[in-house]
Amino acid sequence: MKKILVIEDEDNIRSFVVINLKRAGYDVLEAASGEEAFEVLERNRDVVLMVVDLMLPGIDGYEICRRIRARGSDMGIVMLTARSQEMDKVTGLMTGADDYITKPFSPAELTARIDALMRRLGGNTAPSEEIVSGPFVLNLKSRTLLKDGVRIELTQVEYMIVKTFMENPNRAMSRDEILKTVWGQEYYGDLKIVDVNIRRLRLKIEENAATPKYIGTVWGFGYKWEA
Ligand code: CA
Repeated sequence: MKKILVIEDEDNIRSFVVINLKRAGYDVLEAASGEEAFEVLERNRDVVLMVVDLMLPGIDGYEICRRIRARGSDMGIVMLTARSQEMDKVTGLMTGADDYITKPFSPAELTARIDALMRRLGGNTAPSEEIVSGPFVLNLKSRTLLKDGVRIELTQVEYMIVKTFMENPNRAMSRDEILKTVWGQEYYGDLKIVDVNIRRLRLKIEENAATPKYIGTVWGFGYKWEA
């Protein structure tokens, strides 16, 4: 999976970007400041693209960009800017950044811009196209699930749940986390929607939904994908 580093000091914007890029199939790291970003980069030499907020405490986005380029790195850089920042400033940014996105932006806009830059950076477009777990193969391109080579028909929500699980094998996930990942941060509906969908999903993918083997229940908390 292609690795992206997201640098943004505002927690809600950072998690919005992180969640949506993960959902788009990328391996996402995060940092709340430039200082932290350089530490993360030190440990992760394989980061291919950074999403950098311009306004950061300490080392700002422009300076991060400058330092990265000064090292001779050709990693992709997408700058996040506020609507209020004038155009000439943004043009100035472009000396180091490959693209910029103006806040506020939609998940679709974000992933379209990142995918496009990834393509320009060369190599094959999509990050990993398949996730394999036990008898299951999830194809991220065609959004299809195979079990022992046989297609299982899923709704889009069921597909998103399976994808979330398969990206987080053997990790207990709370109902709330599943809700936020699958239905989005803005969804304020009842957590029961998660249980309802998982019950239906078990009927489709388990050999016996009464004694689930793949989607385990973590009592009083949520669920876990048993890889
Ligand atoms: Ca900021």
